[in-house]
Amino acid sequence: MENLGIPQNTIAVLQKYHFNIQKKYGQNFLIDPKVLERIISAAGVTKEDCVLEIGPGLGTMTQRLAQCAREVVAVEIDRNLIPILEENLAGYSNVEIVNEDILKMDIRRMTEEKNGGRPIKVVANLPYYITTPIVMELLEGGVPLHSVTVMVQKEVAQRMQAAPGTKDYGALSLAVQYYAMPEVAANVPPNCFIPRPGVGSCVIRLTKYERPPVDPGDEKFMFALIRASFNQRRKTLVNGLTGAAGLHLTRERALEALARAGLPEQVRGEALTLEEFAALSRILMEK
Ligand code: SAM
Repeated sequence: MENLGIPQNTIAVLQKYHFNIQKKYGQNFLIDPKVLERIISAAGVTKEDCVLEIGPGLGTMTQRLAQCAREVVAVEIDRNLIPILEENLAGYSNVEIVNEDILKMDIRRMTEEKNGGRPIKVVANLPYYITTPIVMELLEGGVPLHSVTVMVQKEVAQRMQAAPGTKDYGALSLAVQYYAMPEVAANVPPNCFIPRPGVGSCVIRLTKYERPPVDPGDEKFMFALIRASFNQRRKTLVNGLTGAAGLHLTRERALEALARAGLPEQVRGEALTLEEFAALSRILMEK
């Protein structure tokens, strides 16, 4: 069936297959054609592009992606959806349906095979229970990537684009902003899905930087600093860093590094910009 994005068609497909919606897989099917078009246009998909869709569900978005992209790889964990996808996408020769857990898939190899290692675009209405591991694997895992345009829980979108000093700012904000520029493209209320999720959603586009905007000296060390700073949010940065497992920092060394970075002794981690975390990391990495 075409045009699955309208509610009657989605309901018809669910009934035809007596499909049992799996909560454990985060199945909330999109039933709003306007939202669908917002995702497609935010992703900027063209006939040059190889697109990875995570969790195609019934194939609603996959159909539109197939019309706009050169090639679509749609990775779906629920094997009961595979016959439905095969039928709904039978008219498109540029879609490959893969029945796999995205977290177990070698996405780098897929980009190598499908796109000669050139950057792909990821477009998805993500299963919310694994949003962060999926996004971080895409950003950190060395996948050749142009952008990730995804539906996520509103609260997660807010954390991804949060600025220093705000309540949403944390390790996820810094990790996302180190690798990509986040932009919210749409707010999406629960009534745009079957079944309705218990939370509001947002479409967010993360455009990957060719090179990160700051130089931390050692990425892993900077992210260890960031984690230690936010693990104990109410502590000052010095108290958070001193004694954090794996950092091996004395109070004196932490204080000296803060002073050299031009930061006050009492500063909290949540006040530091990405640039300031990178500077602190460079200073502490010096012998
Ligand atoms: N794209 C469809 C839509 O917009 O209507 C469905 C979106 S639904 C929010 C999330 C989809 O991800 C479901 O089809 C679910 O079965 C699938 N999914 C859940 N966990 C997955 C995983 N680990 N790997 C691949 N797909 C997964």
